[in-house]
Amino acid sequence: MPGLIIETDRGLYCPAGGFHIDPWRPDPSMRAVITHGHSDHARPGAGEYVCARTCVPILRARLGAGAAMSGVEWGAGGAVRVGDVRVSLHPAGHTLGSAMIRVERVGGRAEGDEGGVWLVTGDYKLESDGVSEPAEIVRCDTLVTESTFGLPIYRWRPQATVFEDLNAWWRANQGEGRTTVVFAYALGKAQRVLANLDLSIGPVFAHGAIRRMNEAYAEAGARLPDAPAADKAGVRAAAKAGRAGLVLATGSADGSAWMKGFGDVARAQCSGWMAVRGTRRRAGMDRGFVLSDHADWDGLLSAVAASGATRVGVTHGYTGALSRWLCERGLRAWEVATRFTGEGGAGESEPAGSA
Ligand SMILES: [Zn+2]
Repeated sequence: MPGLIIETDRGLYCPAGGFHIDPWRPDPSMRAVITHGHSDHARPGAGEYVCARTCVPILRARLGAGAAMSGVEWGAGGAVRVGDVRVSLHPAGHTLGSAMIRVERVGGRAEGDEGGVWLVTGDYKLESDGVSEPAEIVRCDTLVTESTFGLPIYRWRPQATVFEDLNAWWRANQGEGRTTVVFAYALGKAQRVLANLDLSIGPVFAHGAIRRMNEAYAEAGARLPDAPAADKAGVRAAAKAGRAGLVLATGSADGSAWMKGFGDVARAQCSGWMAVRGTRRRAGMDRGFVLSDHADWDGLLSAVAASGATRVGVTHGYTGALSRWLCERGLRAWEVATRFTGEGGAGESEPAGSA
């Protein structure tokens, strides 16, 4: 795909601007424009990072205080010139500070440019989650879209319905004197769950890794309910008092000594992958809530339509299925290589993923 952005063995690169987008194996010579803080997109080692302003505290929490970083305001108003291109960031609705990156050559198209204005989505979802800045699809000629859930079997229910179920389940567990443990990815999903729980039911506690991200969110300006550290004494006391709480935990904490201290628990996972019965069963959860921070099949198609793009690069996930579907409908679509392939792409079942 010749044009403003090219594929390299270290990810997408803009030669006219001299920067990579979400590079793999960064080194100090690199300037990296970052879509969001998940570890399969934001890797340490680049000389300079550019991201959305609200992503800065999150990226710092992930990459350390030493990384050189600058935050950009949203939209055309915040556009920055980098080399011969203009770069602007537009909310992707995936996590707080997650951005789609629009790249346009200053002074119009140069000879050899193919594809006009580019928009690289990173991970995104169109449904507003109450915490992340709502997604905004801007017009472009060439779109590079993710496709983590790019199969027609993936269709999400509205999040209000999912949270009704989750809150009802918590209440039912409480009625049986059991503490509810919800596994959610530490960046994005956990804050989304926290923001949408019915806090009149009981106290919410959080794992340390989630609390660190909550702090980064607060620093970026998000208003989240307080979720104190989940310690054995507090969790057990709530259950004993008939107000059994909900513990937000990372998947890696499942089965740990930390969790064993909580007494009788009911366990659930919140992930798009919970839509697949086999995954749910393998995870051995009491419940699976289908809640994804990625666009579902209809969301992917409506993003492509809203962008107006006639050329679509498909990456991260079911690239073959989505690109074929788009080609059959007259668009020029192709698969963009990613380091994180595998079934369904980088998913929440993987430590690095974010589904
Ligand atoms: Zn992500």
